Amino acid sequence: MDARPNSPEARDISYHMHGYTNARKHEEAGPLVIEKGDGIYVEDLAGNRYIEAMAGLWSVAVGFSEKRLVDAAVRQMSKLPYYHDFGSKSHSPLIDLAEKLVQMAPVPMSKAYFTNSGSEANDTAMKMIWYRSNAIGQPARKKIISRIRGYHGVTIASASLTGLPNNHISFDLPIANVLHTATPHHWREGLPNESEEQFSSRLADDLEKLILAEGPETIAAFFGEPIMGAGGVIVPPARYWEKIQAVLSKYDILLVADEVICGFGRTGEMFGSQTFGIRPDIMVLSKQISSSYLPISALLINEKMFEPIADESNRIGTFGHGFTGGGHPVAAAVAFENLKLIEERDLVGNARRVGAHMQKRLRELASHPLVGEVRGVGLIAAVELVGDKANKTPWETAGALGGLVNCFMQQNGVISRNMGDAVAFCPPLIITEPQVDEMIDAFERSLEAAAGQVG
Ligand code: PLP
Repeated sequence: MDARPNSPEARDISYHMHGYTNARKHEEAGPLVIEKGDGIYVEDLAGNRYIEAMAGLWSVAVGFSEKRLVDAAVRQMSKLPYYHDFGSKSHSPLIDLAEKLVQMAPVPMSKAYFTNSGSEANDTAMKMIWYRSNAIGQPARKKIISRIRGYHGVTIASASLTGLPNNHISFDLPIANVLHTATPHHWREGLPNESEEQFSSRLADDLEKLILAEGPETIAAFFGEPIMGAGGVIVPPARYWEKIQAVLSKYDILLVADEVICGFGRTGEMFGSQTFGIRPDIMVLSKQISSSYLPISALLINEKMFEPIADESNRIGTFGHGFTGGGHPVAAAVAFENLKLIEERDLVGNARRVGAHMQKRLRELASHPLVGEVRGVGLIAAVELVGDKANKTPWETAGALGGLVNCFMQQNGVISRNMGDAVAFCPPLIITEPQVDEMIDAFERSLEAAAGQVG
């Protein structure tokens, strides 16, 4: 870090409070200031180049230097830099994007609704679900079930849906009416000799017990990511989604697929819902929708959602919800161009092909003494590190080894992220096989360096 008083690092410490950062430690360690992007690489102020193994925050599908997205933004900025959709106003970028998303959906969807972030989109989903329950004359149906270790964002409602301690502790969350059911992590939570399928059945039974204990007439919806991302890249066990959906249908409970990470190719299909046979009533989309070049998110809702909501808005006089920046024309134009690029360049196929190579390379590390589990699908994966392989227990404290490997990764020219002891890989969808090799070679070196310290 540049310690001069007026360096960008010093000014960052003076003036900027960071998200997801230990604010006291940051005062000592300072930031890593990223200055430029080039394909799958980013460069810091000192000119060090890194592979962005997390695509930013699981989000930059087309890489960090896509001129066509810049041009789309400039074109739209020059023509109509801002408009909104309140009071029946509309604009072409929003209409184009809404049509495209509804047509891309893997199950019949009726309408797209635009928001600015994944958190806002999940908040909006929850509000729409409550509104619908009132509209259909079932006002008691307000409880929402999500999962321990699920991640749905950080606003009051979406952080409540999130099932991670750091999003609840000292924020006085979760709010009432949000319930959490078990994490579908077979390696960690499965019983001795329990097959993946038996484990899935047990979790579906647990879900049903929870619904019956609460009263099925009080449960409105279930929220889940096809693959849990921020919870540590948890890939669902065999037949999990099939069994969960059978329980939800039995009690007429809506299903929300939070596709914020999985959507637009990450799993080697356009949507994670396709990979796992999920048939959602609402899909929540963000991140790779615009490769995060500009903030935008969307909900796709089916007729079962839209029809009663439309009636209720007619009864009340308006659907009293909307964001100033929702469906922003510049963000919508960039998203539309980004989706065209994903299709034209077959980045979904690339995620499948190059993803298979990444999964293979990572699985070759499964026998390493510090590797507990390698998991993933397509271009998303995690390697969970352990101190004691037989007992699946951490080295020193939970997260210490993950943090150590992550530091070595940065020294080896890769920006990755550890969720506790799970080191995640979620590179831009444009990554090539040789670049995957470069990334995993650096990971192997980092693992060896960590092994040297673990002893
Ligand atoms: N849902 C999922 C699955 C996510 O991974 C995230 C962010 O990582 C969110 C929602 C929240 O999105 P945002 O950070 O844009 O509010």
